[in-house]
Amino acid sequence: HSDQARQAVAALRAQDIDVVRVVYPDLLGADRARDILVGHLPAATHHGLAFCRAVYHTSPQSDTVPMPGGLSAGMPDISVRPDLDTLHRLPWEPGVAWCLGEALDPATGRPAPESPRDLLRRVLDRIGAELHPVVGPELEYYLCERDESAVTGWSPYGRAPGNVYSAGLRGDPDGHLLRTLRHLGELEIGVTAGNREFGSGQFEINLDHSAALDAADRAFRFKAAVKEIARAEGRLATFMARPFNEEGGSGFHLHLSMADPDGRNVFEGRDEGDPHGLSAAARHATAGVLAHAPALTALLNPTVNSYKRFGPDSLAPWLIDWGLDNRSAMVRIPPERGGGTRLELRLGDAAANPYLAVAGAIAAVGLGLREKREPPEPLEGYGYRENTAARLPCTLSEALDALEGDSELTDMLGADFTHSFLTYKRNEIERFQQHVTDWEFKEYAFLM
Ligand code: GLU
Ligand code: MG
Ligand code: MG
Repeated sequence: HSDQARQAVAALRAQDIDVVRVVYPDLLGADRARDILVGHLPAATHHGLAFCRAVYHTSPQSDTVPMPGGLSAGMPDISVRPDLDTLHRLPWEPGVAWCLGEALDPATGRPAPESPRDLLRRVLDRIGAELHPVVGPELEYYLCERDESAVTGWSPYGRAPGNVYSAGLRGDPDGHLLRTLRHLGELEIGVTAGNREFGSGQFEINLDHSAALDAADRAFRFKAAVKEIARAEGRLATFMARPFNEEGGSGFHLHLSMADPDGRNVFEGRDEGDPHGLSAAARHATAGVLAHAPALTALLNPTVNSYKRFGPDSLAPWLIDWGLDNRSAMVRIPPERGGGTRLELRLGDAAANPYLAVAGAIAAVGLGLREKREPPEPLEGYGYRENTAARLPCTLSEALDALEGDSELTDMLGADFTHSFLTYKRNEIERFQQHVTDWEFKEYAFLM
């Protein structure tokens, strides 16, 4: 480590970088960081940086949620060790570089139980060494501007008259998307394309596909980067599932396939007699995702707000179904075949922790393959009408119960993680249930 760290310091100083931001993903996927002076990098790499374990939420009032190993244990340290292979200059913040950190238990030096990266590694182990999931993330977000007249103080950016795919100044009056794409390009996290989405102020940016952990790392860094770039513009980029009543939600679609040890896509090919031109493996994988969908919502739609994105005519799912190149289904099989055969899981929203979303999705795919599950007939036509498929959970509470009740999936995720996640999320629901919203005031205050 120490040679690599000393070389990194020299290389950073040669680029006039004097600060390194060591960032790790918490259980919710939020980026947690400490800024260190560059000369401290060798020591930080050797000993790790201490962080307080009980901090899990962005709002100060809720930093005291009783987490296993948190408050009740006296808020012990976790130790975050910089991964020097991920060091990169921040294009929008001169003099600063950042790198990913690995959250470790300081007593044992092993990954901390609440590390989402480690959870994903465990799931990869459990689906077996012959399967190598390949993941392509697509993320949508809203860019917001200060607006004193809005209840929250924020409105969608620009109100540009353009619509989905309107390019240039029509969809993006002062070049936010261009600036963001260029900065992300310099950051080298595999960003490929971006466009205006359906909503006012909504954008989508796509990332290249790659091995599961790398794809989750890049999606995590992407979200943190977009939020920072927007801040540098004096704006707010939010990945929350449904920020505005007037607009649709923001999805986190996952393109999923599996490579065998020779790098061949196990979904490719056509099973003799398959009426849809799919391989048995592609069918089993789809069936696994459908079978575990209620539990998966807890991981892919992990906020109270997430359930306001689901619904008919939204391009977000609300029923548990699949279809061939059908965007109104929860699982879409895009039209490419051969090596590009894949599932597009459209369930997740942008608020999901990329590590948990990817871990859950590949666990469900792995279970479907292991059990050779068969899906029902695919959806035909517009799935938001006359569709008798089962409904997704309507609330976070239902989703958490579904996760708790899905022992196949929780066996993959591990009991410690499941317990921590349910504890944290049930506390979030309790706090929400006690909170009086502006809807209630408008609905009841004058009438009652
Ligand atoms: N915004 C939609 C969602 O919440 C997806 C729109 C699209 O198909 O790109 O999932
Ligand atoms: Mg989209
Ligand atoms: Mg998509």
